[in-house]
Amino acid sequence: MLTAAASVGAHIIGWADDWEVSGATDPMTRPSLGPWLRDERGPYDGLVAAAVDRLGRNVVDCLNTGYKMRDEKKMLVTYGHDGAWDLDDPADENRFTMEAWGAQMELRAIQRRNRDATVKTRAAGRPKGKPSYGFRYVRTVMGGKIDHVELHPHASQVIREVARRILADPDDVTPSSEAARLNRAGELSPADHLAVMYGKPAGGRPWSPQSLKNILLSEATLGYLMHRNKPVLSREDGNPVKLCEGLWDRATHEALKTAVSNRKATWIRRSNREYLLTNVALCGQCHTRLYTQTSNDVPPRYTCTARNKGWLQSQHCRPAPLIYAHLLDAYVEEWFLRELGDGLIYETVYDPGNGIAERIAETRANRERLRADREAGLYDARTTPPGSGTGTPRWDANWPRWKPNPRGHPVWSGGLRARRSPTGGFAHRTYKPARRSCSTSVCG
Ligand SMILES: [Zn+2]
Repeated sequence: MLTAAASVGAHIIGWADDWEVSGATDPMTRPSLGPWLRDERGPYDGLVAAAVDRLGRNVVDCLNTGYKMRDEKKMLVTYGHDGAWDLDDPADENRFTMEAWGAQMELRAIQRRNRDATVKTRAAGRPKGKPSYGFRYVRTVMGGKIDHVELHPHASQVIREVARRILADPDDVTPSSEAARLNRAGELSPADHLAVMYGKPAGGRPWSPQSLKNILLSEATLGYLMHRNKPVLSREDGNPVKLCEGLWDRATHEALKTAVSNRKATWIRRSNREYLLTNVALCGQCHTRLYTQTSNDVPPRYTCTARNKGWLQSQHCRPAPLIYAHLLDAYVEEWFLRELGDGLIYETVYDPGNGIAERIAETRANRERLRADREAGLYDARTTPPGSGTGTPRWDANWPRWKPNPRGHPVWSGGLRARRSPTGGFAHRTYKPARRSCSTSVCG
């Protein structure tokens, strides 16, 4: 460029170095060149570029930049062209257009090649792009092809723990509370985890409830190859391509979906203090909630503040009750243990079961997906030529059809056969009597 500049007797007053953004970005918005073109960097006499294709990502951008220079009576110089471009001269204008067109064709060819490679990789059932949280790619050669996918030893534990906590108490444990917990614990967020995994510094980005929710609800957690948030289907059998064992099974996936998506916000304000009777103790006179009072010299007290607030229902609450917290706590604890200490404790436990529920859930999910695809008009022909389009399943062989059998019960016919299983639910609810050793299993 110095040679090109010197050849027209010019000297460089500023560099616009946009190595990182490549020619594929609009010149007006490029971080270094943009301010010059928008006349924010002061006056200049012309623009020197290594080649015409550095001026824009397509013919329109190159010509826009070129004509802008011409209209503003500025010089435009590129290496390999003698002197400045004169776009008023038809021969020069044609040559400039041709070079810009060549650049555009080259860029399109590169884009197509990348796209083709991505499609080919996906069709072959191999992963591309970044691994989903909880998984990692294993390559036999550094920088080489991905050999296989496996669970990330640490991240998979983190996300499994989140799922376990949410399933155990879906009312109180939510993606928001879990994101906050992970942030407090200093756990690397998915983006940071990815950066560290690939040897880059962590950016200190926090966990966000939404991204945690997306991870939990994605079918990528089942170990599937994904494309645009949907599992990629195998060309051979039309089933989703599985890359790796999942973080959890289909039954857990469905349970998580119910727990996370169907959650209704509770409107009870929760205290983060450790007082035993917050929200529990009521005033004996006006039946409003007791509040805790704290001060430096006296231990904490429960008291009724409703009259002080001017609530009509509490206007006769005088004298308002006031009691040391430790006294009331001890009294209530003693009463509670006397009355309810021997009661049974019921606990919901998620049990992976015998695998039949898992298979039914998997088949059901497949059926729903195929049905949705058919309703969307993806398959209108009876048979689809094999291999037409990405991941199109062989329609004729695999689509199960309902047929009544002689006894009047519908059975599956076609590629799949489903039998009624004695265990239909996703989870077994186990009732554990406290202080007893036996436990019974009941279908949930
Ligand atoms: Zn009161």
